[in-house]
Amino acid sequence: MRKLFHNISRLWGIEYTPEAYKSGAAMGVVDSLESAWLLVEDGLIAGFGTEAEGRPKANEYIDVKDRELLPGFVDSHTHAVFAVPREKEWRMRLQGASYEEIAENGGGILNSAARLRETAEEQLYKDAYARVERMIQHGSTTIEIKSGYGLDLDSELKMLRVIKRLKGEFPAQIRATFLGAHAIPAEYKQDREGYIELIIKTMLPQVAYNLLADHVDVFCDKGFFTPAETEKILKAAEKLGLPAKIHANELGLTGGVQTAVKLGAWSADHLEHCGEEEFLALKQSDTVPVALPGTSYFLGIPFAHARKMIAHELPLALASDFNPGSSPVCNMQMIWSLACSQMRMLPEEAFWACTLNAARALRLETQVGSVSIGKEANFFSTKTENAMQCIPYFFGVNHAEKVWVRGELFE
Ligand SMILES: [Zn+2]
Repeated sequence: MRKLFHNISRLWGIEYTPEAYKSGAAMGVVDSLESAWLLVEDGLIAGFGTEAEGRPKANEYIDVKDRELLPGFVDSHTHAVFAVPREKEWRMRLQGASYEEIAENGGGILNSAARLRETAEEQLYKDAYARVERMIQHGSTTIEIKSGYGLDLDSELKMLRVIKRLKGEFPAQIRATFLGAHAIPAEYKQDREGYIELIIKTMLPQVAYNLLADHVDVFCDKGFFTPAETEKILKAAEKLGLPAKIHANELGLTGGVQTAVKLGAWSADHLEHCGEEEFLALKQSDTVPVALPGTSYFLGIPFAHARKMIAHELPLALASDFNPGSSPVCNMQMIWSLACSQMRMLPEEAFWACTLNAARALRLETQVGSVSIGKEANFFSTKTENAMQCIPYFFGVNHAEKVWVRGELFE
């Protein structure tokens, strides 16, 4: 089945020679074609060119009516399965309480865990379904979702089963991450060792046996898990064939990045607190740095040093961190804009960070993240002219008019 999308005023994000990621000066360049067509065969990109060169034949012709077309976003870090929003804690923060203080008083992740444990699987699924639908409507066509609000065997498996069901329900690729080590649950407050043992001996084998996760993540930070604990958990995961991702350096210079590099983690995410040592460690690794500007914006904490990471030629990626406590945003266009206005990334740099480099953080760069032959035909159309500049410029609205996933219109 060959579909020809034509009458494209500009086709963005083209790669003639696909690369694993963009770094340094290459992040600032996005190739595009004016008056273009895009050929899709069985859900994959089969060709592209200009109207002047002539169009190939197809079984179906789709007139995109002079709109610009961009490859879909890859949101590589989300917590989109959760029970309830935490707007009350947000009010507390607005009145002066810190994220750590709220966590110490039974709020934060532990509050989400308590609510999630009492929520039926079907309800969790319905709510998460609606959120994923909204993410795709905003142009995200590849999405990672973590567990980590269960913090006991049954509830963690419940979350992962919800993610597995979402995988089957949506055309967009969804990746699951087991994050049992998101926090120490209340009942293990006096017995950290006991909880880590539960993760390693009981949770991880069950997760692996039931094929419920594609990666394992640990919140390696001040007040959460130490580098030594993180290493123990992720080495156990590696033995089960599950690659590592790490929440690192959000709350301080706590060795999270070095741990990620040492363990060969696919990505180190957050990185609000990083120095030269962290950047040099990342430089000598295959670990993708993932910045989460939605969290910095919402919590009022520093933004990651994007300019320094780009100067070090790191394959910087961006993600939403969509979650009810620290980043209730599901819209990658907003992340794109925040990266420009707050981290001084150029629109082109932030675009690659939201697409190809984010795909690399999930090791999906050969399948998604740019307009390149053989990749999934995931893209969205927009009426916004000069979209590469003007989507992040006109922030706060949804610029995506229609979204196609594997060549099918998402409705
Ligand atoms: Zn997170």
